[in-house]
Amino acid sequence: MAYFSWVLILFYPFLKRYSAVICLFIFSFSARAQEADIAQIPANFRQCVSDLQEQAKLAGISAEIIDDALANVRYLDNVIGYDRAQPEFVQTFPEYFSTRVTSGRINKGRELYEKHSDFLKELTRRYGVPGAYLVSFWGLETNFGSYKGKMPIIDSLTTLACDPRRSTFFSAELMQALRLMEKEQLKEASMLGSWAGAMGHTQFMPSAYLSYAIDGDQDGKVDLWNSEKDALASAANFLQQLGWKSGFKWGREVTLSDNFDYTLAGKDRSQTLAFWVEHGVQKTDGSALDKAAIRASLIIPAGHNGPAFLLYKNFDVILGWNNSEFYGIAVGHLADRIGGKGPLSKALPDLPKYSLADIKLLQDSLNQLGFNVGEADGILGPATRVGVRDFQASENMIADGFPDQQVIDAVRSKIKPE
Ligand code: CA
Repeated sequence: MAYFSWVLILFYPFLKRYSAVICLFIFSFSARAQEADIAQIPANFRQCVSDLQEQAKLAGISAEIIDDALANVRYLDNVIGYDRAQPEFVQTFPEYFSTRVTSGRINKGRELYEKHSDFLKELTRRYGVPGAYLVSFWGLETNFGSYKGKMPIIDSLTTLACDPRRSTFFSAELMQALRLMEKEQLKEASMLGSWAGAMGHTQFMPSAYLSYAIDGDQDGKVDLWNSEKDALASAANFLQQLGWKSGFKWGREVTLSDNFDYTLAGKDRSQTLAFWVEHGVQKTDGSALDKAAIRASLIIPAGHNGPAFLLYKNFDVILGWNNSEFYGIAVGHLADRIGGKGPLSKALPDLPKYSLADIKLLQDSLNQLGFNVGEADGILGPATRVGVRDFQASENMIADGFPDQQVIDAVRSKIKPE
């Protein structure tokens, strides 16, 4: 389950801050690292590869494909490094959103929407998904094909299949990758993607590629690396299969009344539109919400100083592609922008940059003050949000359960009275 309004970022801020140091480090130690790579191949890797070859044979995959894929397969130490990377910072919605929905991406998206307009209309007729969403997914997954990933997929998947952490999942994906090689007559060397095995313009895992990718340009091949039409048609097919409701939006930004009750917010608290109207929710232009008999939930991903969003059924479909609320809002809003709509009506607030240690300290402090948030784990889960909300209420602050700087300062001053 996605934590309400926070996504953990991996190494980006760390890399940004210490890039010069890291470069020096890599420069000084590259020779030793190469030796280390060789030394770190697990003892059972060859046995594991031979088991995977046997598994592939039993699954009916041809000897030729098994040989091409696995005869010289390599263990990739850096893949295990990516898999084990521990989040150090908590990424806020404003940070996430502003680096993904950029003016450059909106303009490029509009250009490609225009370029493929006839084809996108045809896809909408057939699959029910508006073209702007298809272009939006494409923009968020690979910046319209500019970052498709350069890791050798078979090596990556084999490395992960032979690692105990998620062996079953990645063994199955590896088998699907071999099937895909067979079906689309792909060579191992041409199968490049992300370190975890996602491929092409839309970053499909092998199982998704086999199940949902289709031949949009009708040249007889399904090629998500090189055919934009195959990628767009495959996205449309995937979203239809995930349950996209034709004729409905993802959600919308809304305006809340001054006395809005923030305990009503939360992805899992859906209500009728009539309920939201009654509780002071309006369109951003101040007009009334439509009276459609649909349900929606409301989220405030950056606290009460940031924008609020009503989310409809298709938002869940977007989460079926990638289970992150920030991602879902970015896809929906970018689609709106590509379709010609304007920017968010409410500016994104400046929020403090929290490390996990900062959040742990906040949790410890709340526990000390008697707001029981459970174990201090550095994650802003539901218990922490309830504790923050109760603290805010006790201080006559707006109780949105969101620890902005004002909340953090107030908690700190209670622990260390000046
Ligand atoms: Ca094709």
